[in-house]
Amino acid sequence: MLEHHRQCDVVHTHDPDVTIIGAGFGGIAALYHLRKLGLNCRILEKGKDLGGVWHWTNYPGARTDSSVPSYGFGMPECRQGWDWSCNYPDSAELRRYFAHCDKKLDIKKHVTFETQVSEAHFHQASNRWSIRCTNGQIVRSKYLVVAIGCTHEPVTFSHHHLGQSKGQVYEPALWPAEGVDPEGKDVAVIGTGCTGVQIVQAWAGKVKSLTLFQRTPNFAIPMDFKRFSEQEKKQIKDNLPATFEYRRTVPTGLAVPSAIDHSALDESLEERESTLEDLYQRGGFPFWISSYKDIMRNHPTNWLVYQFWARKTRPRIDDLKKRNILAPLQPPHPFGAKRPALETNYFEQFNRGNVDVVDVNVNPISAFTESEIITSDGMVFHEDIIVSATGFTAPAKQLSSLGLRGIDGVKLEDIWAERVQTYLGMMCHGFPNMFIIDGPQAPSEVSNVPSTVEVQAEWVSDMVKKMESGGIQSVHPTLGAAQKWAEKVDDVSKDTLYATTESRFTATSGPGPRLQGSLFWRRPARLY
Ligand code: NAP
Repeated sequence: MLEHHRQCDVVHTHDPDVTIIGAGFGGIAALYHLRKLGLNCRILEKGKDLGGVWHWTNYPGARTDSSVPSYGFGMPECRQGWDWSCNYPDSAELRRYFAHCDKKLDIKKHVTFETQVSEAHFHQASNRWSIRCTNGQIVRSKYLVVAIGCTHEPVTFSHHHLGQSKGQVYEPALWPAEGVDPEGKDVAVIGTGCTGVQIVQAWAGKVKSLTLFQRTPNFAIPMDFKRFSEQEKKQIKDNLPATFEYRRTVPTGLAVPSAIDHSALDESLEERESTLEDLYQRGGFPFWISSYKDIMRNHPTNWLVYQFWARKTRPRIDDLKKRNILAPLQPPHPFGAKRPALETNYFEQFNRGNVDVVDVNVNPISAFTESEIITSDGMVFHEDIIVSATGFTAPAKQLSSLGLRGIDGVKLEDIWAERVQTYLGMMCHGFPNMFIIDGPQAPSEVSNVPSTVEVQAEWVSDMVKKMESGGIQSVHPTLGAAQKWAEKVDDVSKDTLYATTESRFTATSGPGPRLQGSLFWRRPARLY
């Protein structure tokens, strides 16, 4: 399956053995394991600090929606001297966590900050990657680990469409470090992903008015938010080994119960109400991922879960028109086919007189003037602030726009233009010694990121160890192996309800080129 090349080569002593792009969860996990092999590793990081998405995520209300401690590094060193304050920490706490991990792991000495990679070429004669940065720096290394994550490149919706607007326009991924004061302002939020939901919750009570421009309702699930008592912190600590062991064994990578081993159709009406009520009362993702085993395969089961969700949610919204937009009787896509947000009081925000929602499918935005948004029905919304919470480009596009060139100068973006093809979601044919962490055709978007990247980093480290001990200079998958993996991903996903919907799971959501094949909904059984 993998092509090997053995040959001697000239190595410059100052070059690292491994270049890692990105200092978030994925890059740090890779560093941790590869450094243990005695290799010299260098992380190139665009931002000024560790944390990846959590370095940049600074928008109001930002917090994780995967619960801790599962949402964290599994390395024993990082567990020492750290207690989470609550089950869904905010972005400031995540940044403190990365600083803590740096103290324990001494990460920063391996990182060159404020350094953005513009291209990386593989040179066959030397079996080395040459990585060029926007500041002119060139780094050469035998191995290249691309760990830029799935939320690296925000869509440029605002630049394309909001050119006329003289109001303040903000993208959550580039939120000003000093914050934004919404007090007394007319605010528009465009987009209803997890980010849009969190911003509405955080700002609705502060602004003069808030209008949400919605293309797709978010089937948000109540978050079981709680601050941990000292006793709970101790219990969590005592259970950490078991928690981290468990998260490796389940497809979601989260320490929540596995899906119920039967269909909703196997239960009586009363049993089903009781099952769903229990899951709903737990709060968080279990209502989705610990639900019936066929929830994402069988329309009737999915419909029953949706109906339950709608029965719970609709009474929380007083106004019928808003209710039908936010929690419609007929869902536009199966429940869970787009990732539900976790919310605390999202739907109640729309009971405030100053908060409204516009369905842009019915009333598309027809113009942005200097200080207004105008919809096709002629409604004019004065806005001081526009928040463009329209998400990120598809993960495959983010990777292919990194300027990666493999054997014979072939561009990744060219060979992926037709179809994304990876081996195990981690290697590409024609791109020797390049490893992708948290990329397309891996569990990335449908699994807990820190769990996935831990397993992937170990796999990469095993491969590199084998290469180093065997004197192997380069490895890349055969075209056949990559095609087989792509077909497997397609086979697994085509019968699921995810495949019915344009989303980040299928990498077809948002503007820009639509690259297929990002979905792999189960952890590969034999990953390492
Ligand atoms: P997202 O999930 O891609 O959501 C983008 C939203 O913008 C969608 O509602 C999309 O509608 C809408 N949109 C895009 N173009 C639009 C247009 N032209 N007009 C109107 N609406 C438009 O992005 P995100 O919320 O930033 O989340 C990105 C990723 O980060 C997700 O995986 C998310 O789960 C994760 N995230 C996690 C957390 C957390 O851990 N707490 C917080 C935030 C984000 P359509 O659905 O119709 O495309």
